Amino acid sequence: MPTTTLFKLFYWIALIIEMAVRVPLNQARRKAATTERRISTLEFVLLSLLSLTGFFLPLVYTFTPWLRFADYTLPPALGWLGVPLLACAVYLFIRAHRDLAANWSPSLEIFSTHRLVTHGIYRHIRHPMYASQWLLVFAQLLLLQNWLAGPTGLLLFIPFYFLRVRAEEQMMLDTFGEQYNAYRRSTGAVFPRL
Ligand code: SAH
Repeated sequence: MPTTTLFKLFYWIALIIEMAVRVPLNQARRKAATTERRISTLEFVLLSLLSLTGFFLPLVYTFTPWLRFADYTLPPALGWLGVPLLACAVYLFIRAHRDLAANWSPSLEIFSTHRLVTHGIYRHIRHPMYASQWLLVFAQLLLLQNWLAGPTGLLLFIPFYFLRVRAEEQMMLDTFGEQYNAYRRSTGAVFPRL
């Protein structure tokens, strides 16, 4: 099997695992009462574009020859570096979803049953899912060596991350007040505080 095919396979295995992890949480979320919902138009646009760059462009790149004009080739060692990055991304993704459980939402929401999670992976970092997404977008540009299917994920995730974290932390502060403030002081965003 050519290495490029193997890299595509790894990427899709990771994506399928992540989608499967979210199935039960999405079902639980539909039953919960939302007491607060904050999503700006810009964030919504960026989120929609992220599914284009993370899913639809990789899909076209994997299953059709249409994007071949935009291919690039990296040294093999760099391509292979994408595999451990991807594995770490999936690991963090699974742990974060297990710890956040019913408090998880794809947008910014507070549920009537919402609890501030400070255990598990959240004891060390406040944004393990976004940390996982950082790893994923770097893995994407190493594994999917195509200007449209590869680095576009990172390009969009940069503005999304900063916008989202600012809005999310404000919402958590408004909801949990001093409890969140203390939690924020004792943790890092995506890197553990030393
Ligand atoms: N930023 C976190 C969570 C992303 S999911 C991460 O990267 O892992 C976004 C939702 O998680 C938001 O709707 C917010 O209400 C919820 N959330 C974020 N941090 C939380 C925490 N520590 N405890 C409970 N809910 C949290």
